[in-house]
Amino acid sequence: MLSHEKNHLTFNQQRDSYAWMSQRAWVEIDLAALSHNVRQLVKLLSPSTQLMAVVKADAYGHGAIVVAQTALESGASWLGVATVPEGIQLREAGIEAPILILGATHTPEQIQAIARWKLQPTLTSPKQALVFSNTLEDIKYDSPLPVHIKLDTGMSRLGTNWQEAAEFVQLVQRLPHLAIKSIYSHLATADSPDPTVMKQQQQRFETAIAQIRALGIEPPCLHLANSAATLSNRSSHYDIVRAGLAIYGLYPAVHLDSSIDLKPVMQVKARVTQVKTIAPGTGVSYSHHFVAPQELRLAVVGIGYADGIPRNLSNKMQVLIRGQRVPQIGAITMDQLMLDISALPADVQEGEVVTLLGTEGEEEISAEDWAKQLNTISWEILCSFKHRLPRVTLGNN
Ligand SMILES: *Cc1c(COP(=O)(O)O)cnc(C)c1O
Repeated sequence: MLSHEKNHLTFNQQRDSYAWMSQRAWVEIDLAALSHNVRQLVKLLSPSTQLMAVVKADAYGHGAIVVAQTALESGASWLGVATVPEGIQLREAGIEAPILILGATHTPEQIQAIARWKLQPTLTSPKQALVFSNTLEDIKYDSPLPVHIKLDTGMSRLGTNWQEAAEFVQLVQRLPHLAIKSIYSHLATADSPDPTVMKQQQQRFETAIAQIRALGIEPPCLHLANSAATLSNRSSHYDIVRAGLAIYGLYPAVHLDSSIDLKPVMQVKARVTQVKTIAPGTGVSYSHHFVAPQELRLAVVGIGYADGIPRNLSNKMQVLIRGQRVPQIGAITMDQLMLDISALPADVQEGEVVTLLGTEGEEEISAEDWAKQLNTISWEILCSFKHRLPRVTLGNN
């Protein structure tokens, strides 16, 4: 068990315990929203297309085990992870669904772990395929290991160049101990409103598959789509779609916002730890980047950049208290940040819950809002919350 899993208490356990009352900050994971998103995606797919829930990077910071379990219960049938330890973590939790390792694996130790834990690797080069076959021979692996052939059709990341696909597939097919389970590629620009590059990648994928078929090899399974392509391009669905961001309830791009109804799964919350009044001219936090223009009421909140609140949001972000937006002031520090709560009723006090990301009443602050302010993408925001913040699951059984 990883140390952070001990923090993965259910809402009821947390609410009823002293630990909950004294919790300074936490991440709420709404499993009902996750389940809703997975069901929405499944509805979009034809009955012959399966959904792979991409749960790499601890399920984009949401908690891999609970997300994988909920996604499988809600209609996903595959899981995607980046690394061997991520796959083992799911197997150790008793999850039996097929798990594709999207990242590269090379060493005999990794290959033995893949075989032992029944994980399914991505093959990207002849050299790697040979190491796999030889290692499985050495350990006298007795059944063929399902492997997935990755083609580079324009992402310029992992994969055999699409022009060499047929040759590579032929080689892997002839190697002992390996059974080709799927052939796949990854799109670089599926979230762009301009589909030109996506279409070109898809055309290259189709050409490679046609060349493989011309050798008399029928690929058992094809997949290409990430969340953006799943939402925007039905012809990219093939046999499996690999959805990450969308299952977490975020849209990969503004122009896809109305494609299906998604609900954000993650909220980030913390408590007010002190309230005070400061005089006009008083500096706030390190370097006094904020100086009170008039008397104001200040709230200290127990969350900071060591929890994953980006310090670059200092003096720029807002949070929600009692359904109202209030400005954050001064530099965000390692474990704490300050708010100007002058506009709120006078009875706001220590212990009050602050929503940093999430919804209160009519107001919402989303990972997209932060991403825009920080000139990054919502994927990075979701992945940025540290394990010091316990993940509190809501809406489960
Ligand atoms: C991360 C990843 C995905 C999921 O991407 P989203 O945009 O989050 O849906 C799909 N395929 C591969 C190969 C990935 O690495």
